[in-house]
Amino acid sequence: MRNDIVCKFGGTSLANSENIKKVKNIVLGDKKKFVIVSAPGKRFKEDEKITDCLINGFNKSKSGENFENEFNFFKTRYLEIANEFNLSIDLTKDFQDLYSKLKDHTDYDYVVSRGEYFSAKLIALILGYNFLDAATFITFLDDKKVDLEISKQKFLTQIKQNQNYVISGFYGADKKGNIVTFSRGGSDISGAIVACLLNAKVYENWTDVNGFLSADPKLCKSASLIEKLNYRELRELSYMGANVLHPDCVKFLRENNIVLNLRNTFNPTCKGSLIMPDNKKLTQDKLTGIAGQKGFTIIHIDKFDINESLGIIAKIANIIKKYNVSIEHIPTGIDTVSVIAKTKFLSQETRQAMINEIYKEINPDRLDVIENVALISVVGNKLKDDINSEKQVFDALYSSNTKIITLNKGADGISVIFAVPEKTFEKTIDFLYNSLFN
Ligand code: ASP
Repeated sequence: MRNDIVCKFGGTSLANSENIKKVKNIVLGDKKKFVIVSAPGKRFKEDEKITDCLINGFNKSKSGENFENEFNFFKTRYLEIANEFNLSIDLTKDFQDLYSKLKDHTDYDYVVSRGEYFSAKLIALILGYNFLDAATFITFLDDKKVDLEISKQKFLTQIKQNQNYVISGFYGADKKGNIVTFSRGGSDISGAIVACLLNAKVYENWTDVNGFLSADPKLCKSASLIEKLNYRELRELSYMGANVLHPDCVKFLRENNIVLNLRNTFNPTCKGSLIMPDNKKLTQDKLTGIAGQKGFTIIHIDKFDINESLGIIAKIANIIKKYNVSIEHIPTGIDTVSVIAKTKFLSQETRQAMINEIYKEINPDRLDVIENVALISVVGNKLKDDINSEKQVFDALYSSNTKIITLNKGADGISVIFAVPEKTFEKTIDFLYNSLFN
């Protein structure tokens, strides 16, 4: 149903009745038919998210501790919502089921999924919509992957034309009907799956931010909203630390060419960011964004004619793989290969063992380890074929007076990635942002 809009509301949007009223206005004001909900999030800074409370309760029960506090906290939060909206619903049986599953502490997924289950039940009543339990259609295979075909069949047989639905996020069920949850933040994925099953026109993800910003506002005060970008650009920015959405959610939407609209429940007049399929050509008058991360280490290998030695890069990569370290980048030269990896994967032991093995297998002329490296990426479709944009980036980079350790134009041509010393990270991002985006 190409004209349908599927919308998902996150935990902050559902944290208390005041916020839920905002959700109600958005949904009913725009007659949205399919609504996916998270479990209530924090109402204030020190508050506990419902999902965290369930996880704590489960862990306490498992280690023989008392979980009454967690159970009561859970119960009170939903009863408060039910009371404030004067809902006539009897949740006794659902609470009892949760209590026994907590006590029994064998079914983790069931317990942690209850946040979304209760949330969807109540929100459905508040909106006057049908409640649809995600366990009745989102079907997981044994490898925890979702089978879209089976899920679609089950989904389409349940939904009726001209009916509206509230669907619980974050979980589904395996073929035997046991509850299976996604990883944390997984209601984004549930929403994306429903959008794919319906072949929806747009998937709206309602959170507490206006959309994707062109830079991290903690680093660049004037970071502005990106109104339109492609999935490819979004991926480049997320990869460098600009994470707002669950990556699997993006994967489903991107593969199915569904437009994603990131919106703010607390500022609904703002149109948010639109993420368009990669084949959709956008008119963008400037670069899209800048993102970066600290915490990288470079292992720099020097060996005469390394470039010509067949299979040597594969050999280095295999050694690194043995230590479960993923490689971020491999800049190469005629006599050099540098491997850039996240420092957190390189404990003292791992690093020493790896280096010993590289010495043994590759016999380098020299090997250096460069610590405290940050990666920065400037992203924009314009970089692909607009030579002026590229020139702007390089001009700004050289005027920033930052030492550049390595520099690389991404293989798809839409990003320029470079490594700088960590201590210059903030200064460089700020300088580049002001030169390129302001
Ligand atoms: N409630 C789950 C979590 O906190 C899933 C979600 O909110 O998307 O991770």
